[in-house]
Formats: sequence, structure tokens, C-alpha cells
Amino acid sequence: MRIGIDIDDVMTHSLPEFLDAFNRRFGLKVPVTEARWEIFRRHPEIPADAIAAFFEELYRADFLGSRRLLPGAREGIEELHRVGHRLFIITGRPRRDRAITERWMEERGLSRFFEAIEDRDGLDAPLHKRLAVTRLKLDVLLEDEYEVAVAAAAVCDRVLLYDQPWNQGPLPGRILRIHSWSHVLPSLAPQIGQHDHSR
Ligand SMILES: [Mg+2]
Repeated sequence: MRIGIDIDDVMTHSLPEFLDAFNRRFGLKVPVTEARWEIFRRHPEIPADAIAAFFEELYRADFLGSRRLLPGAREGIEELHRVGHRLFIITGRPRRDRAITERWMEERGLSRFFEAIEDRDGLDAPLHKRLAVTRLKLDVLLEDEYEVAVAAAAVCDRVLLYDQPWNQGPLPGRILRIHSWSHVLPSLAPQIGQHDHSR
């Protein structure tokens, strides 16, 4: 199968640390259940120059380039590759961060498992990922953002939603919640031979 895999909070621990930095910087207590990359949309009271300074500080600290892998991620990726699935990175990271992502993957020995990196160029994450799934003819997307999962499920056979505090709630068809990397490969098995050719 052709499988798209998100980086942040599927392969790595990212959004909770982004939220911690945000809360510290602005003296807020946004809970992790409300974590969002676009959190500034919910806080219009924060001025643009303060937002810019916040992101500047994250870049200086190499935030994206220093993300830790989640338990089992490396083993899960290796196994998907070993059994013959074709893997693609589908990330919401903006295109200007491509070099950071490539270095991060190279340093962790992950580059060789992936055929391409699809990063974001101005579009909102749900639309970006839905288009990437279509363009790359992906069968499955592994993702942690609820809105992205719903958008992608319209155009692929199955979305595996990596369980996180911010993606709770009932799931529409074609979206399956998984709780660890050890669930990824088994969750693909039932759909072998069930590919929907009617689309
Ligand atoms: Mg993510």
C-alpha cells in the first residue's frame, strides 16, 4: 500500500512542547486537549510582533530539528518498509522548513524509508493533506489532527488517527483510532483485498 505519514505528533513529540513554550511565553494555561498549531488564531489579543518573536525563539532553539521520536516510531516505520509498503512524509510543516526536516530525518536514519516529503505551501493543513493524498494516490494516511483526518478520509481508503489528547471525539467511517505504533501494521491487515476501485 501507499502510506502517508505525518511527522509531528505521529513520529515525534512536538505539539505539547510547542504549547508549553506558548503558555510560558504568554503567561497562559491552555490545556493540552486544546492544543493547536494555529493557536494564535484563538488569541487575537496577542500582537503580531510578539508572535514573530515567539517563532524566532523557536527557530533559534531548533525546535523542529530537535524533535524526539515517539516510542516505537522507528521500529514501526522500518517494519512498514520491510514488508513492502511505500512510504511518504505528509507534513503540515511549511516548505521553508524543508531543509530542517531533511536534516532531522537524515540524522535519525529515516530518510531511506521515504520516497518523498510533501510539505505545505500556504494552504491550510486539511486541504494541503487532502490534495497530497490525492496527488500521491495514497491508500492510507497516518495523522494526529482531527480536521486533517476528516478531510483526508474523503479521498483515501483509511486514515489511522494517532491518539492524542487534542483529537478526541467520535470518528466518522474510514478513520480508525490507534494508540501506538505497534497497532499500525495490524490495522492495515483487514483491508487487504478490499480496495475500493469505484472511486
Ligand atoms: Mg501532526
